[in-house]
Amino acid sequence: MQRLDVSTECPSCGGPLDFKEGSNAVQCRYCGSNLLVTGRKQVLSYYVEPKTDEHRAAASVLTARESRGEGECRIAGMRLYFIPYYRLSGHDLRWERAMEDPGTESITPPAFARDSAYADAVGTDARHRSLLLPLAGGLLDIFFGGGSSSGTALPGVPSAGMLKEMESVLRARGDSPGNLFSGELQLAERYLEKNFLACSLSGMGIYSLGVRTSALALRLFHKETLSAKGRIVAADVSIEAALARGMKTELPEGLLYRAVIGRILSLVYFPFWVVEMECAGKRSLSLVDAVTRAVVASGLPLSLYEALDRTTAEAQHRTAGFRTLVCPNCGGDFPVKPDDVVFFCAACVRAWQIYGSDLREVPYRFAAVRVSVKEGEAVPYLPFWVLRTERDGGPRRFFVPAFRYRRLKTLSDIATALTRTQPDYSVSENTDPEIRSGISYGCYYDQEDAALMALFVREGMRAKQRAGTAEEKEEISFSAAELVWFPFLIKGPDLVDPFTGRALPKNALL
Ligand SMILES: [Zn+2]
Ligand SMILES: [Zn+2]
Repeated sequence: MQRLDVSTECPSCGGPLDFKEGSNAVQCRYCGSNLLVTGRKQVLSYYVEPKTDEHRAAASVLTARESRGEGECRIAGMRLYFIPYYRLSGHDLRWERAMEDPGTESITPPAFARDSAYADAVGTDARHRSLLLPLAGGLLDIFFGGGSSSGTALPGVPSAGMLKEMESVLRARGDSPGNLFSGELQLAERYLEKNFLACSLSGMGIYSLGVRTSALALRLFHKETLSAKGRIVAADVSIEAALARGMKTELPEGLLYRAVIGRILSLVYFPFWVVEMECAGKRSLSLVDAVTRAVVASGLPLSLYEALDRTTAEAQHRTAGFRTLVCPNCGGDFPVKPDDVVFFCAACVRAWQIYGSDLREVPYRFAAVRVSVKEGEAVPYLPFWVLRTERDGGPRRFFVPAFRYRRLKTLSDIATALTRTQPDYSVSENTDPEIRSGISYGCYYDQEDAALMALFVREGMRAKQRAGTAEEKEEISFSAAELVWFPFLIKGPDLVDPFTGRALPKNALL
């Protein structure tokens, strides 16, 4: 997945500060400040700096006309607009059944599935149902019962109702169910990345204003800065509608279950020059990408102005913020690990998780499992979320990796193996520095991601069991989520899980 660069200024020294979109921590190159980047999993707003002035934009339009052999025109006016886009990214995981004749249709989604225009053309299929996740900010609030920032232990218990909503289920309700259960169950994973308009310009002759945000640096949205440069087009597509559209997908036959892990929705304002042309007494508008200077549309009606200048209720713009990255309890320094969601304080041995703009204490334990290592070698510990369910029948505990790995399939396999095994172990709150020094692999996934992964693992286990029989939907709720570190064995280039013996190549740990 392409992670964009975000450019801003250091709040401490004013020097340029660059980091990857989605980073939770950053260190300033100039003054060395360690900063917490707030706004995790919230819908943050950005803009892209225009790179083309009005003269160059005008030249682009005239050159394009000339190359098409069109008649003489006069430029009657120009305005710079910032048009809002939603950008949705995440890691898409699916359980699929191979079709009886896999030769005719590829199960792997085509590369152009990333293109939003394609998603539009495909549309929704009435036979399929999609339950969408609510906004991450709201989700986390539900997760922790409204949450408290008092630093008390967080139960991390998702409610049944929330899980129902969290489940992004796309169940095939086809008229040939026989097909669905005949093939081998397989896991498909891919990155989801979509950019699409956040304002309605329908009827303007613009179906899709594509932008290639991939090569661009984002800047934090700042209304006054943008207003001074051009006009800000109102984002009138709601976040719910944006999620519905972004999660909409082509639905291959055989899709049983889908989960999108680590989903991020952002609002990006992209600059366009609107060039008003007068040709043989007739006026029309052309749109020029103010970054690449490409003419993206021409011959548009003047009524486009109304659509662009339409004012709606002021959109809420959240932006990433910065705070000094220190332990809220003792003021001790945290190591700067941009991808981690949990920060460990070496001084007071507490762990803190980032929720939106807050750091909240999260309890953690160590599994007391004896593993032998060579003299002088530290035991590597890997973090897992242990989710409990009170349901009878089926696994009582789900073991979901919290660490990052090159492939989600591997994490799903480990989670499945451990969940099947239901290992017995005792836990300790050992604060022995030797054990704590084993915390070398950070937590990349939070409880929300873990719950989605647990549901995904469960669907895979159920689908394997019921091969050939009709499916029945079963609800599940988790009553607790606990962060536990498991010791692994070192075997050559691999780390080996002490319960199932599954090997994990070390070099694929990110
Ligand atoms: Zn600085
Ligand atoms: Zn501390």
